[in-house]
Amino acid sequence: MRDCGKCNACCIIFPISEIKKERNTKCKYLDGSCTIYATRPKTCSSYDCSWLKGNLMENERPDLSGLIVTNSIIESVGPVSTVHVVYEDLIEQGTIGSLLLNRLIKEENEIVMFQKLTGNVSVLGRPENIKNFMAKAVEVREQRIQ
Ligand code: SF4
Ligand code: SF4
Repeated sequence: MRDCGKCNACCIIFPISEIKKERNTKCKYLDGSCTIYATRPKTCSSYDCSWLKGNLMENERPDLSGLIVTNSIIESVGPVSTVHVVYEDLIEQGTIGSLLLNRLIKEENEIVMFQKLTGNVSVLGRPENIKNFMAKAVEVREQRIQ
């Protein structure tokens, strides 16, 4: 496992219900690093972004790429990469962030849930991947309704 180093992107972007922290707001306990590290909420201590797990390149750390990538699996539907924008200026064309996003979108069997700072979410990926993903999602929803 890597070390977060100077990154504290998830302490800004994510809502943390235990400490009533809203999304896109710097945590009140963040002062360079977490000032309550030993007793931080479980939501914080249990979170590892994709970069921290070693799934992205060294220079794609969220504070450098402007993107937090989280890998997860939606039951019966498949793997998803959720990508949160942290710093919009870092994802302009030709930057590390834009190259990272383009790579994820083009990857085989990859579905990207792309969340902007406004909170708007877009589903990105190869057209065939999106089609398969949506079909499976509808199938799962119908099975749950029956
Ligand atoms: S976004 Fe990832 S690398 Fe950055 S502080 Fe959070 S877990 Fe660590
Ligand atoms: S409590 Fe600590 S780890 Fe959790 S969001 Fe705040 S600064 Fe980050």
